[in-house]
Amino acid sequence: MTQPPTPAPASDFIRDRIRADLAAGTVRQVVTRFPPEPNGYLHIGHAKAITTSFSIAQEFGGRCHLRMDDTNPAAEDQEYVDAIQEDVRWLGFQWDAMYYAADYFEQLYAWAEQLVQKGLAYVDDQNADQIAATRGTLTAPGTPSPWRDRSVAENLQLLRAMQSGAFPDGAKVLRAKIDMAHSNLNLRDPVMYRIRHLPHQRTGNRWCIYPMYDWAHGQSDSIEGITHSLCTLEFEHHRPLYDWFCDALGIAKPQQIEFARLNIEYLLTSKRRLLQLVEGGHVSGWDDPRLPTLRGLRRRGFPPEALVAFCKHVGLAKFNSTHEYSLLEHFVRDHLNRTALRRMAVLDPVRLVVDDWPAGTVDQVEVANNPEDPTAGTRLVPFTGELWIERDDFQEQPPKDFYRLAPGREVRLRSAYFVTCTSVEKDALGRVHTVHCSHDPATRGGNAPDGRKVKGTIHWVSAAHAFDAEVRLYEHLFTVPDPAAVDASEFLRVLNPNSLRTVRAKLEPSLRSAAPGQRFQFERLAYFACDPVDSRPDAPVFLRTVALKDSWQKAQQKGAPAQGGGKGAQKR
Ligand code: ATP
Ligand code: MG
Repeated sequence: MTQPPTPAPASDFIRDRIRADLAAGTVRQVVTRFPPEPNGYLHIGHAKAITTSFSIAQEFGGRCHLRMDDTNPAAEDQEYVDAIQEDVRWLGFQWDAMYYAADYFEQLYAWAEQLVQKGLAYVDDQNADQIAATRGTLTAPGTPSPWRDRSVAENLQLLRAMQSGAFPDGAKVLRAKIDMAHSNLNLRDPVMYRIRHLPHQRTGNRWCIYPMYDWAHGQSDSIEGITHSLCTLEFEHHRPLYDWFCDALGIAKPQQIEFARLNIEYLLTSKRRLLQLVEGGHVSGWDDPRLPTLRGLRRRGFPPEALVAFCKHVGLAKFNSTHEYSLLEHFVRDHLNRTALRRMAVLDPVRLVVDDWPAGTVDQVEVANNPEDPTAGTRLVPFTGELWIERDDFQEQPPKDFYRLAPGREVRLRSAYFVTCTSVEKDALGRVHTVHCSHDPATRGGNAPDGRKVKGTIHWVSAAHAFDAEVRLYEHLFTVPDPAAVDASEFLRVLNPNSLRTVRAKLEPSLRSAAPGQRFQFERLAYFACDPVDSRPDAPVFLRTVALKDSWQKAQQKGAPAQGGGKGAQKR
């Protein structure tokens, strides 16, 4: 049995900081949050953010909130709010409280008036393009807006008019009055509110101005008493603004701490790009098993425990890096190896006839359900004189290192008998369609009483008892490891045309009653999950979760770079 390669780090820069805060008494109880915007389904990157904030709260006896960061009604929907809750629970986490940023709109607005009154915010009549054009650059200061020095009274009156719907979309914005020459561009009078005459799924038509991320996030954290606001590195340059707003309002200031995003080769974790794939019909939906959405991974049979173990293993870093897909697979396989029932299935069948089998006899042989887990027990599998075996398990002219069936060669049929190939039958094109064998009745159960060994063991199903079912085999959705780096207009060209292959397989009879979502190892092939979406009673569909071969572990043993499969710093 394989173990996760290294235990989860007991200490990292975030946990160390929290320990120090607790020791110094500046924090009594740790409170974290996971703040998704309900504008799409969660993906594996979110699993890392979820695992981080929830497990840190757990480890330190604290609390973790789930907050819908629902400040932009244009893209948000109740459907996503519901799905996010379901997905967080599926990962195995339960929030201590659930909040909506929209519930803070009244408070945020009152605070905006406060800043205006303090001379720290003003209404600007410039449009978005003008604001962008006058922001300056990293080397040149910005140009102050002609409206920057409006009086407090005028600003207040205009803000109230904005809020009550007097102006069309885009006519005005509220900006913080900070410093148009600040070295951090985010502090060059950032926009706090914009006008959007759009109903909001939670507040209806109450508002026609909506807060920007920066004007909502820190204050929402502060209202909820968040002590450590953990987010990804792209927010690092927003932290001074986060702090500035809390200080200007004189409210509690949570500590924002940034960590590296999770990136995995071949997986796309941008909601916008995922939406493009779904809307363009390039995948079957948000739960397509090739997508790294939590719904897609769940459908494909990824155990949530494996995702959490993977996220913990990857750990918290201060630099973005990309992990190999094989590292993720390693964790999935490790969990499935311990938990998945073994079954026999033949994906590319060729007939095997045991010529000396007593006609009409069915033998029920006992097969272990999971050799890694003795409590999983055994089952009886019908064995007869006519079987299906995998086409690759026979070679008429075997190469040197081929130990499976070949003319004159003896192999073990898993948990059944030793058989020896006596002859083959071919079709007009010379393709083998039937392999003839003899068997040794003394080897029943798969061992020879005389201690004779065979080099190969192959799986099989009884032709009369097997049933046909659809099996879907997946490969990467993209042909390149970093699809996110491909320009949006080009990236459909890097879709892998072979990412889904469907076969009709011959399955052992017990699989007919597989439960939707149940996970199996098809012996010697791969792990598969019974599709909860397309399976019908009596007609299960199986999805390949992950192959059996562990290329990541192999690479580790050969001394390839360790460090959680990281491939070095990149981006940003
Ligand atoms: P997108 O930009 O694709 O829409 P997002 O990051 O803006 O996604 P949010 O719903 O705002 O999505 O994210 C919620 C939280 O999840 C944020 O704190 C964000 O930092 C975190 N998160 C998103 N993607 C990743 C990732 N790849 N790795 C780690 N954390 C992530
Ligand atoms: Mg976001």
